[in-house]
Amino acid sequence: MPHDLWEYFVFRFDVIIIGSGLAGFTLALHLADHQRVALITKKNLLDGASSWAQGGIAAVLGNGDSIDEHIHDTIISGAGLCDENVTRYVAEHGKEAVNWLISQEVPFTKDETNPTGYHLTREGGHSQRRIIHAADATGRAIQETLSEKILAHSNITVFEQHIAIDLITGKKLGLDDNRCYGVYVLDTSTGTVKTFSAQNTILATGGAGKVYLYTTNPDVAAGDGVAMGWRAGCRVANMEFVQFHPTCLYHPHAKSFLITEAVRGEGGLLKLPDGNRFMPDHDERAELAPRDVVARAIDFEMKKRGLDCVYLDISHKPADFLISHFPNIYARCLELGIDITREPIPVVPAAHYSCGGIMTDLQARTDITNLYAVGEVAQTGLHGANRLASNSLLECIVFAKAAAQDILNQDKVSEQFLPEWDESRVTDADEEIVIAHNWGELRRFMWDYVGIVRTNKRLQRAQHRIKLLTEEIDEYYQNFRVSNDLIELRNLVLTADLIVRCAMARHESRGLHFSRDYPAMLPHAENTVLQPQI
Ligand SMILES: Cc1cc2nc3c(=O)[nH]c(=O)nc-3n(C[C@H](O)[C@H](O)[C@H](O)COP(=O)(O)OP(=O)(O)OC[C@H]3O[C@@H](n4cnc5c(N)ncnc54)[C@H](O)[C@@H]3O)c2cc1C
Repeated sequence: MPHDLWEYFVFRFDVIIIGSGLAGFTLALHLADHQRVALITKKNLLDGASSWAQGGIAAVLGNGDSIDEHIHDTIISGAGLCDENVTRYVAEHGKEAVNWLISQEVPFTKDETNPTGYHLTREGGHSQRRIIHAADATGRAIQETLSEKILAHSNITVFEQHIAIDLITGKKLGLDDNRCYGVYVLDTSTGTVKTFSAQNTILATGGAGKVYLYTTNPDVAAGDGVAMGWRAGCRVANMEFVQFHPTCLYHPHAKSFLITEAVRGEGGLLKLPDGNRFMPDHDERAELAPRDVVARAIDFEMKKRGLDCVYLDISHKPADFLISHFPNIYARCLELGIDITREPIPVVPAAHYSCGGIMTDLQARTDITNLYAVGEVAQTGLHGANRLASNSLLECIVFAKAAAQDILNQDKVSEQFLPEWDESRVTDADEEIVIAHNWGELRRFMWDYVGIVRTNKRLQRAQHRIKLLTEEIDEYYQNFRVSNDLIELRNLVLTADLIVRCAMARHESRGLHFSRDYPAMLPHAENTVLQPQI
């Protein structure tokens, strides 16, 4: 394509936001009155973990609570690795973040008896009632409300069924700078790769739960942002800290359905297939032990006995109590033939949240100029070695706003000629089975070898397999046209590699990382920082 024609073929905006979760929405709405925004999302607008969030958002809203207590709770949970400055910054901006959502008309559950006017719940690890929520479907209420504003804004162009493949950086263009100029994006409805150009690009791509066999995450959570950022030259940190939710429904037709911890809180008992309880053998708090302790105990029993799942039994409670307290769980399980008022629920632990990611500063800036990372894709320093419940939605809003302010303060830079995506040396794939097979294999061995309890041997086994898969997928990628599944698989393997490398570098057990070879916690806490070699 001649240089003077390139602008007719390139999608040009002021800002490109990759991802339509809470991070992406918040950024778009803060920028769109001043800049032209492209909002790119690989499936539909509401597909993302944000829409699935149940509990709510942690923020100090009054009522005898204090910023210092929120900071304290976050730091205790983070097991020595929270960045205190970042934690203070987020806690101090909590009320502003929630007020912004209220101003957007998010229908939070009200409580006239509470001075804030809203009902606040308490979750594990929080010393106060500080979780604002919309019944038990907070994420959906937020995302539906914000999506209406997004669709109504004339400065925001939404590109659904568009998956970002790779960032376009100065280094890739052979320039002598460290800038991001845009991104190559596959339009999965037509199969064409488009070039997007903008002064600023934001990775708001969410987590990486799909790297594991069992996950509470939606299908879109394939680690794309971490992989794209790493390939472009960003540092990545703390990927070993994967939070596992102890109880995800185990059923061939139920993908990613969470059984809330409240079931254990209300008396649910964890049992082996023979009906015996096992939690009292692991912790004196039994079923009420913290999330990571319960997840480790279930994992231990499953691996020791070769079980596919364990059982969560609350059938000893009156049926009307269960139906009124857990209407969604009751209905969903019944649909699948499990009557929770009469029988135990089959459950497995599942990958839930990725604490690590692309390293960012207080304005959500990455190591690459004009590239930002916001939300679960980023490692801001807030979560440390273990995320405190309901801090992640808050993090999305606080850092999206900070990034927007930073972008609006920038001077305009001149545009750069961006070459088209080169498809001259590829053909259509001959065997899709390679992708399906490798995808299944990766998720299985990550679950078995890099799951809740790790050992040096297991990590080495995983690393060996990752190396083989990487070679095979790279070859496939170089020879065949890209597809959604190939892009995701390539990113999943790289994300798995980053998790294993971080896990191998940590010679202790801390927070969510537990190693049988290094069961003790070292006196000095340090982040695991991986430096890209490009
Ligand atoms: C079941 C569940 C319950 C939860 N409950 C809570 C809770 O109560 N409170 C709390 O604080 N946190 C909760 N979390 C965590 C929280 O929901 C997430 O951390 C948060 O929503 C992440 O927001 P995000 O905007 O970063 O990513 P997401 O909301 O996951 O959005 C990512 C977006 O990026 C898009 N995308 C990804 N890759 C690409 C690509 N290559 N090209 C184009 N688009 C791409 C996706 O399609 C999606 O639109 C929960 C998580 C789960 C899974």
